[in-house]
Amino acid sequence: MFRPGVTPPRDRDDTALWMLVQRDRVLLREGDAGLAGPERAARLAGAGTAHYLGTLDGRQLWAAGVDDGAEADEGWRFSDLFSFHALAGDERWLAAGRAVQIVEWERTHRFCGRCGAPTEQARGERAMRCRRCGLLAFPRLSPAVIVLIHRGDEALLARSHRFPEGMYSALAGFVEPGETVEGALMREVEEEVGVRVRNLEYRGSQPWPFPNSLMLGFFAEYAGGKIVPEAAEIADAAWFPADALPAIPGPISIANRLITSWVARRGAG
Ligand SMILES: [Zn+2]
Repeated sequence: MFRPGVTPPRDRDDTALWMLVQRDRVLLREGDAGLAGPERAARLAGAGTAHYLGTLDGRQLWAAGVDDGAEADEGWRFSDLFSFHALAGDERWLAAGRAVQIVEWERTHRFCGRCGAPTEQARGERAMRCRRCGLLAFPRLSPAVIVLIHRGDEALLARSHRFPEGMYSALAGFVEPGETVEGALMREVEEEVGVRVRNLEYRGSQPWPFPNSLMLGFFAEYAGGKIVPEAAEIADAAWFPADALPAIPGPISIANRLITSWVARRGAG
C-alpha cells in the first residue's frame, strides 16, 4: 500500500525503495517490476536531490532524478508511465506519477521565476525557495474536470482530433484561475459541445501525470441544447446508448471508470 508523505524521516532506511526517474520514465526490474534499492539509487542518481514520497508496503519510498544519458543496469529498464501501469498496477503507478512530477518540478525550478537567483528546497514543506528574494514555488498541479453527460439510457461522448480512430470519451477540460470546479464544468460542456447540463454528481478523482493534471470526475444530467462540436478541439460528439458504446479509453484512465460505472448503474437501475 502507498501512503503519501511529505516530511522525510530523519534517517534513510537501508530497506528503502527508490523511484529513479529519467525524464518521464521510472526504473523497474524486468520480470517482476521491482523497484531499485539504496545502493542502485546512490550509483545512478549520484548527488542528485532525494525527494521523500511516503511509504510503500511499510518501506520508505524516495525519488531521485537520473541523468538523461544514464543507462539502466542489465535486467532493468526505464519504463514510461503507461508501461509502468501495465507492469506494476494502480497503487505503484500513483507513486510513480508522484515521483515523475516531483523530480520534473525540481528540475524546472532551479532558478527563481521572479529574480532569477538559484533556489533551494524549503524545509518542512514541498517547495523550492529563492535564496535571494524568498519566492516559493510549489509543485505544479492542474485541476481538470471530466464529465459523463447522460440523457436516459444515452451518454454524450466525444472524440478529439488526437484520439485513435473510432475512440470516444467523456468531455474534459482544465479549471481556469478564479473558476469553481462546477463553473469550469458548465463552461467546458457549453464550449465543446454546446449543450447545457444540471445535477452534477461528483464521482471521484485521479492524478493524471501527463504532465501534471488532477482529474475530477462527474456525472451530469443533460438539460437542453443541440450538440454543436467545437471544431478546433472536437472531431465528433454524439449520443450513444449504454448497450452500443464505441471504443473508449483503457482502464488506466478515470474516463474508463466514469463510463463503465455509468453503464453498470444503468444495468443495476
Ligand atoms: Zn527570487
